[in-house]
Amino acid sequence: MKCAKRVIQRFIRRGFNKAGGEMPLAGSPGDVVRRLPQTYQAAAVNLVNFPYLKTRDYRHKKEKTDRTGVHPWVIEFFLSLQKEFERRGYPMFAFEFYRSDERQQALYVKGVTKARGAQSAHNWGCAVDIVHCERFWDLTPKEWGVIGAIGKEVARKRNLQVVWGGDWDFYDPAHWQLAHWRDVRNLWEDRFDWPEIMTTADFLDIESRLSAKRLNARLKQMPSHLRP
Ligand SMILES: [Zn+2]
Repeated sequence: MKCAKRVIQRFIRRGFNKAGGEMPLAGSPGDVVRRLPQTYQAAAVNLVNFPYLKTRDYRHKKEKTDRTGVHPWVIEFFLSLQKEFERRGYPMFAFEFYRSDERQQALYVKGVTKARGAQSAHNWGCAVDIVHCERFWDLTPKEWGVIGAIGKEVARKRNLQVVWGGDWDFYDPAHWQLAHWRDVRNLWEDRFDWPEIMTTADFLDIESRLSAKRLNARLKQMPSHLRP
């Protein structure tokens, strides 16, 4: 008992004499924020914030992002992913879907993207950037890893082929795009009478033409005696 008391007293003395004056207060100038190595499990727990999902701020972020000119499969992917995030208590939202060629070019000049105007899946309504409601892009690689794994699982269950930007050398973990978006673009470019910004019906028209094209290509590869 006496011994324990002495240990505590020594600890307190040492704390005051040695560490007390040297330890910077959190947030003081020169304070270096150090991130401890994180496990995926800890990252998954760290993302949980159920109370935030009940706030007005969340509801606002959830609804404000413009969905004009977006491929219906991107919307379908995003809505199922959002449902899964809400189930887990993760406050994530769609920062941007469709992006004009002008805005794309401006971002390219700034160096935040590798794609020039009209070269990104965003410019063709085939991508979405999903970020954290309060920390935006500022998640740890492990936290993004959790987000990526959930997104891929949602896509698999929905039978949607999407690509995650977190798998690229040009690491862009907020970014998700349709795997075949260049086919969509090529077909769009072949026809001049399609509008600049597509409607859901236009996209479905493109998809049916694409599937017909793919079917024809597959038929051509078949030996002639097996063709229907
Ligand atoms: Zn993006």
